[in-house]
Amino acid sequence: MSETFRITFLGTSAAVPTTRRNVSATLVAYQDLKWLIDCGEGTQRQIMRANIGFKNLSRVVLSHEHLDHMLGMGGLLATLNMLQPVEQVVVHGNPTVLERVRQMTGYIGRTAQYDLQFQVLQEGLVFTHRQLVGIPNGPERRRLLAGESLQSPSGQLVHPDDVLGPEEPGKKLVYISDTMYFPELSSVAQGADCLISEATFLHADAALAAEAGHMTAAQAAMVARDAGVARLYLNHVSQRYAQREHLLLEEARHIFAHTHLANDLDTIGV
Ligand SMILES: [Zn+2]
Repeated sequence: MSETFRITFLGTSAAVPTTRRNVSATLVAYQDLKWLIDCGEGTQRQIMRANIGFKNLSRVVLSHEHLDHMLGMGGLLATLNMLQPVEQVVVHGNPTVLERVRQMTGYIGRTAQYDLQFQVLQEGLVFTHRQLVGIPNGPERRRLLAGESLQSPSGQLVHPDDVLGPEEPGKKLVYISDTMYFPELSSVAQGADCLISEATFLHADAALAAEAGHMTAAQAAMVARDAGVARLYLNHVSQRYAQREHLLLEEARHIFAHTHLANDLDTIGV
């Protein structure tokens, strides 16, 4: 299957950075679009180290308001203001995290040199890309997909061959951040081509994981197995295992063979 997304792990440590792992951030690139998922402290420097560049970095999704997932936003937005590689930045998240980011922008000093928008993340479609030459979603688009020619709103006659490339199956990427295990997670992740899941603790520390509201590597693997995903990447790992991280991987692979341990600056295709 062809590669659709390129994913770069920018920060894979839980709560605090280590010498080898920065705090949470993952970059998802699709064609000329870049989506940043979470933005812990130091993320902008990780973007530079990964040679990704700031151009087209116009969408940020913040999973929640904990500092290890959003403290890097102030610095990133200030740098975008200095270098001006984008004309618009849209930040998605819950109302609390958006308010915190809004407060940070108050310290930047110069008014934003780009269109900065905040959108509360809600269930359902939040973004579509590359409209078929202005043919809106709906019956017209369905007729076009069914092979009929039709007239665009601008009066142009549009034939299916003009706008439809070879059919490609969709891709499903699931990112699970900071949660306890609960069985319904596997219905959310059902059939994903790639599951990136928090795996903060080893199962030997399951009681600690539950107390702190996190998952173990074994639980992440159970979600992957029950959801029938293609691949699992363990993410958001506790610094307490810095000298024995292989145990997280071994524990998860015992339950779900196609498991990998995400490392900072690893890039994968999905
Ligand atoms: Zn976290």
